[in-house]
Amino acid sequence: MADSTQNAATRLSDIYQRMEEAAKRFDDTPQRVELVAVSKTFDVVAIAPLLEAGQRVFGENRVQEAKAKWSELRERFSDVDLHLIGPLQTNKVKEAVALFDVIESVDRDKLAKALASEMEKQGKQLPCFVQVNIGGESQKAGCPIDETEAFVARCRDEYGLEIVGLMCVPPANEAPGPYFAVLAQLAKSAGVEKLSMGMSGDFETAIAMGATHVRIGSALFGTRPPITG
Ligand SMILES: *Cc1c(COP(=O)(O)O)cnc(C)c1O
Repeated sequence: MADSTQNAATRLSDIYQRMEEAAKRFDDTPQRVELVAVSKTFDVVAIAPLLEAGQRVFGENRVQEAKAKWSELRERFSDVDLHLIGPLQTNKVKEAVALFDVIESVDRDKLAKALASEMEKQGKQLPCFVQVNIGGESQKAGCPIDETEAFVARCRDEYGLEIVGLMCVPPANEAPGPYFAVLAQLAKSAGVEKLSMGMSGDFETAIAMGATHVRIGSALFGTRPPITG
């Protein structure tokens, strides 16, 4: 085993262990939690060791960047499950549907419609999450809380999308727990099962509050270079 693979295996098993311990704090029956390894900004050299260590579920936030990296990686690892976790413009829907296996950032009617018609064209039915703007922040993507239930219903009944859950990114520098609780409640009232919530800094809290998917980048890959420009 190459050093980098061994190292990746250790980082992965540390995270899985922390996830398992957090799950024990959720009710009496810990849910199964999926780790989405967020590989945005990291190149194929950094990602490959995690694949070699057995990780198969990954998240990317930009269609163009993901396409460049994953067309190469998928030739070596065919059973990857790639999640789009970033904002999606309708002019990128075609490429996104071709590349990704799960879309976590459905947040408006125009996008939902475009996704549905592109999936039909490509003969695919990708599972989707509705992203909720859980902190009501004007600069953030996501469906407003009080419109989420109706939006989920339209996605399913009018557009025919397979909505499996809700996703959120709580406001930075605030305790995330209350936001995770709101998302969990909202999922119940909207009738969806899955909850994509929790990142490197707060995934244990998210799991303790019912997360089924955690999206972890820096705790697995190391610190990302600051985004410039
Ligand atoms: C970058 C990102 C993550 C991962 O963040 P870390 O703090 O590095 O774990 C999770 N979710 C979304 C939507 C992201 O953009």
